[in-house]
Amino acid sequence: MPRRVVVIGGGIIGLSTAYYALQKGFDVTVLDRDSADSYGCSWGNSGLLVPSHFVPLAAPGMVQLGLKMLPNRQGPFGFSFSLDVLRWMMIFARHCNPRHVERSQQLLVELCLASVSLYENLASDLGVSATIHKRGLAMICRDSSTLAHELAMVPRAAKLGLNAVEIQQKDLQKLGESLEIVAKGGVMYNSDSDLTPGVIVQALRDQLGDRIKSSCEVKSVIVENGKVSAVKTSKEEFVADEFVLAAGSWSGELANDFGLKMPMVAGKGYSLTLPNPPSSITTPMILVEGRVAITPMTGGTRFGGTMELTRPDLSINQNRLAGIKKSVESFLPQFKEAAFQGVEPWVGLRPCSPDGLPYIGRAPNLSNLTVATGHAMMGMTLGPITGHLVTQLLCEEPPNLSLELLKPNRFC
Ligand SMILES: Cc1cc2nc3c(=O)[nH]c(=O)nc-3n(C[C@H](O)[C@H](O)[C@H](O)COP(=O)(O)OP(=O)(O)OC[C@H]3O[C@@H](n4cnc5c(N)ncnc54)[C@H](O)[C@@H]3O)c2cc1C
Repeated sequence: MPRRVVVIGGGIIGLSTAYYALQKGFDVTVLDRDSADSYGCSWGNSGLLVPSHFVPLAAPGMVQLGLKMLPNRQGPFGFSFSLDVLRWMMIFARHCNPRHVERSQQLLVELCLASVSLYENLASDLGVSATIHKRGLAMICRDSSTLAHELAMVPRAAKLGLNAVEIQQKDLQKLGESLEIVAKGGVMYNSDSDLTPGVIVQALRDQLGDRIKSSCEVKSVIVENGKVSAVKTSKEEFVADEFVLAAGSWSGELANDFGLKMPMVAGKGYSLTLPNPPSSITTPMILVEGRVAITPMTGGTRFGGTMELTRPDLSINQNRLAGIKKSVESFLPQFKEAAFQGVEPWVGLRPCSPDGLPYIGRAPNLSNLTVATGHAMMGMTLGPITGHLVTQLLCEEPPNLSLELLKPNRFC
């Protein structure tokens, strides 16, 4: 009889895990609280596959940068005060040092590159290869000091095996067709690629079919003799041999039910997708000072940004949305605020660990629970490799990459 796996959470991490586990012959069930037409954080994100993001969120200067941005209510960073957020910030601050960056960056690049390569096979197997574009990512800067900082990353990227080159100011216009850009220059990461998140997520959902149980919220867990024996949901009880916790920003709260301490906050962000943009952007870009990502994709050009640290809540802060539009217009004068009129904002919660690294590994206290969450700004990128690594753990095979830095209990 095949071994039964219950995956809690049907975002990109849970779906990728279910996909690879199914290939290995497991009897898979995915439980998701949302309805069949709602997809957590994995739907409206910017769809960038980013080996370029090899510096973890917890890095030198991030606390100072956050404090500088905080007073601006339309700025790209904010937080809602709670004890959880405060505790998280204290651990975050401890990790903002060069040693943490040094020991994390190689692993992040390896995870990203392995995932991008898995995406190619995955998209081909699912019949959606056309959604993946290998056109790089341009980091665009308005200020000389930011540009100098970005340019200093080029040799560091090269050392890690990534292809990054300077973009001269005169070449910025080539990032679109008759596109006006007000900026000093930038850096092009040729190793990055992009996709339309909804296309890949829907293809995975179609593949998994009725193995996905929607509107099915895990409410409590039953633990017996050091193992999870079942989870109780809003619908019924699910018994399995193995359980995977992949509930995105809600995983921290659920981890408590499993007796696991895993600090986590939600990094709230928004996206706006313009079906008919006033000018054509042909290369994905990040407007560095505004922290806005722009991705041309199926259905329009998507503008994503802001990071508000909070407990999981999906309310929309109009100030932040206004800030995204303002930033876009300051870099791209053709994209006036009016261009966004009538566009429905999307809100998503990035599952953020306090050291900027995901939690991937076996739970120390329960022999049949595996954790896969905390991917923050890189969850779309790292979906396939996470699913692949978790499946290796379920099969009791040694993982392709060391999971030492990603242990779920590393803050206990
Ligand atoms: C504006 C924005 C732009 C982004 N851009 C990028 C990008 O360009 N590249 C990139 O790599 N990443 C990007 N990200 C990050 C990425 O979207 C996330 O890291 C990723 O989607 C997280 O996936 P997940 O599967 O862990 O969580 P989710 O997609 O949130 O899925 C978790 C699921 O678990 C379900 N769940 C929660 N609790 C329960 C429960 N008790 N019972 C059952 N189900 C439950 C939820 O309903 C949800 O569907 C972006 C995020 C934002 C907000």
